[in-house]
Amino acid sequence: MRHILDAINNGATGEQLANIPLPDAYRAAVIEKVDAGMFADVPSRDKDPRKSLKLREVPVPEIAHDEALVAVMASSINFNTVWSSVFEPVSTFTSLTRFARESAWSKRHDLPYHVVGSDGCGVVLRVGSAVRNWKPGDRVTIHCNHVDDQDPSAHDDSMLGANQRIWGYETNFGGLADLTVVKANQLMPKPAHLSWEESAVNALCNSTSYRMLVSENGARMKQGDVVLIWGATGGIGAYAVQYVLNGGGIPVGVVSSPDKARILKDMGCEAVIDRSKAGYEFWDDDDTHNEAEWRRFGGDIRSLVGEDPDIVFEHPGRSTFGASMYVAKKGGTVVTCAATSGYMMEFDNRFFWMRLKRLVGSHFANYREAYAANRLIAKGMIDPVLSQTFALDQVGEAAYQVHRNMHEGKIGVLCLAQNEGDGVTDVELRSQVGEVRLRRFRR
Ligand code: NAP
Repeated sequence: MRHILDAINNGATGEQLANIPLPDAYRAAVIEKVDAGMFADVPSRDKDPRKSLKLREVPVPEIAHDEALVAVMASSINFNTVWSSVFEPVSTFTSLTRFARESAWSKRHDLPYHVVGSDGCGVVLRVGSAVRNWKPGDRVTIHCNHVDDQDPSAHDDSMLGANQRIWGYETNFGGLADLTVVKANQLMPKPAHLSWEESAVNALCNSTSYRMLVSENGARMKQGDVVLIWGATGGIGAYAVQYVLNGGGIPVGVVSSPDKARILKDMGCEAVIDRSKAGYEFWDDDDTHNEAEWRRFGGDIRSLVGEDPDIVFEHPGRSTFGASMYVAKKGGTVVTCAATSGYMMEFDNRFFWMRLKRLVGSHFANYREAYAANRLIAKGMIDPVLSQTFALDQVGEAAYQVHRNMHEGKIGVLCLAQNEGDGVTDVELRSQVGEVRLRRFRR
């Protein structure tokens, strides 16, 4: 791969890259099928991604006519890589086997190893014969919506596609590697003012938050809306805060430490709740809801902003969902995309129907939404929330930190890129945005 990296760093033309010899194998962070039972008797919190995520040399796959082969300069850790690496709630090898039944091309994905990772940015090396809008040499970021565009159900909103998948989670050849195979309709222009690693951390979380809050498909936030954001300095939460501030809303950010509270204040989020300090106990010891604690939480929000939330940005799941449904304003919306603490959730329906609330399920973003969210990054209107960067051979440790909630914002991973800070081509926009904003989450 060294000759590919040198060619990219030396400004090789698209034609030169299109003809550069490809290696037989490349470095990739993988989980292995033989390990799928390794955590069978281990409590969820103690399942350790450092034991299951391995760096391997794997063969370079052939690309289909609608695909591109991308040299990955950097990638990032998403929570779905934590899920894959602890084989919860199901082993992702089940998805790969199911996918393999669809076509001759999808059979490639059913392997005894799974190259994980659902973010990436880099340089296109090869495109299939049906690819029109991208060519070798293009600098790209990659979103993770893997869609079969020959399926009628994928037209309108492609997230409703019958066989919509998340690249690098439900498909193989993901982004935590030196090369990746993607559909051409996953590609977006790399923001020129950002380094490789700053460009690589956004697509999954930023697009998810855009759909949840801004898109017609989500909560349709309006100016002046009060938006309660759980995990407000986490991956999706940190972009959510920026969308609320940009859109004229009033964010109420929930975090779990004074350091995270400080980051929020720096971002311009005035209303902050430190849930560790507040010590909410939404569940009683006997596994029943504690309504008094929901009321206390609602009172804390009112004391900060004077009213109940129009929108609740929900993702912790079981531990917070009852409270989220309770504190939303009459006629308000709870939008959810996840259930980190458990997916069997409970809420008191009386406060839901009598107060005419809405619950919106949301999952990643369609290409139009991901592109719109990427455009805002590229214009310097939404900032990356990179806190740390790891090398590709440290992916296990990086995923461990996310699993144990030891991080803020996003963790980047250098793949082919050797140094942090490389890849910036628009120095002027970078200086307009400023290092203070770009480094706000850095440790
Ligand atoms: P993250 O970086 O780990 O951030 C999540 C934040 O949630 C944490 O920083 C933590 O913040 C807070 N949190 C965790 N457990 C909590 C609990 N029990 N109660 C209250 N707050 C809690 O993860 P992320 O990237 O933001 O992703 C969050 C979830 O969304 C994950 O489950 C992920 O799989 C999912 N997700 C889904 C989609 C989709 O398309 N459906 C896309 C992206 C992410 P504090 O400790 O500071 O409160």
